[in-house]
Amino acid sequence: MTGTSGLAVRPRELAASTPWLTVDLAAVARNTRTLADRAAGELMAVVKADGFGHGAVDVARTALAHGATRLGVTSLAEAWALRDAGLVAPVLSWLNPVDADFPAAAVRDVDVAVPSLAHLAAVAAGPGRNRVHLHIDTGMARDGAEPEEWAALCRAARNAEVRGQVEVVGVMGHLGCADDPADACNARGRTRFAWAVEVARGAGLRPRDRHLAATAATLTDPRAHHTMSRVGAGLVGIDPSGTTPLAPALTLTAALVQVRRVRAGTPVGYGHAHRTSRATRLGLLPLGYADGLPRVASGRAEVLVRGSRRPVVGRISMDQVVVDLGATGAEVGESVTVFGPGGAGEPTVAEWATWADTIEHEIVTGIGARVPRGAPVEPATYLRSLA
Ligand SMILES: *Cc1c(COP(=O)(O)O)cnc(C)c1O
Repeated sequence: MTGTSGLAVRPRELAASTPWLTVDLAAVARNTRTLADRAAGELMAVVKADGFGHGAVDVARTALAHGATRLGVTSLAEAWALRDAGLVAPVLSWLNPVDADFPAAAVRDVDVAVPSLAHLAAVAAGPGRNRVHLHIDTGMARDGAEPEEWAALCRAARNAEVRGQVEVVGVMGHLGCADDPADACNARGRTRFAWAVEVARGAGLRPRDRHLAATAATLTDPRAHHTMSRVGAGLVGIDPSGTTPLAPALTLTAALVQVRRVRAGTPVGYGHAHRTSRATRLGLLPLGYADGLPRVASGRAEVLVRGSRRPVVGRISMDQVVVDLGATGAEVGESVTVFGPGGAGEPTVAEWATWADTIEHEIVTGIGARVPRGAPVEPATYLRSLA
């Protein structure tokens, strides 16, 4: 529904009860502007994991039209999807195995991060001259080169550059605690990053792109901005630092496929984890944990039915959930809002994250492929509304 064509709109022939994920690209546009205004340098729109579940190509196009100048993804496969869709903006891919198709990255004009000597050797060995960003681990013990290896990596990269095998255009790091600006881990990360850039310069490299900040540091810490910010969560309305109002962009709806009257004491769902406390009406929604409703939210989650919050009752199943409709009078075929921006009283992604003991990122990236998604109105109208 999204993907290379972009801007899908709910097809008329889609059964009314089919769940639908509405992606509000106008919200992405506003968020991009907010982030671009805050960033001291360029803005890279990070559209990994299908644009955090919002459609990588749609989010990329929208962000590029509203202040972002580049795109960032995890894998090369994600980069190819952007190129296949006709996007020509600079793209950086930062997490690949050493045997990834780096020659294709050179051909398709995709920058790659180099986090180790082994990666550098693999990139340099290819026929093309890859543009690379050396990646320093600024304190997460995750991706990026360890400080002990950094000087050797910079020297080897400079040698490869002199031989015409690579062009070192950037140095990148990533902060592990930026969602808490007061955490001392941020200062240590900034210091290590500044050191890494100095070591690179000392080795004769001239990295013009120096980037450390993701969404949280872009919103809270100008000292981390350098020449570029890489933002993903913020584009789609998630602020890990909790400091800045951003616009959530997803609304998940589904219609009731069955409604039944039950007596008090009726057991509901697997394991009879819930029993109705009074006579009520139960509604069935065709969405479950395979569609991204976390099973751990069973017994906590709510949805919006006819303007009222109603509880999801019993265990969340793979494909379906039961809602206690109470006195709402809701009927089969009626649309229920699982989550949305919250303006009409519906639960937000942030609430679902709380119910599932997780972060918003996991909810938005977890919506299953079975849920069709797209823009709220037909593309021409929508594009005009963005202009
Ligand atoms: C995901 C990711 C980002 C974007 O982080 P947000 O907090 O979502 O803005 C930036 N850089 C790297 C290396 C990432 O993996």
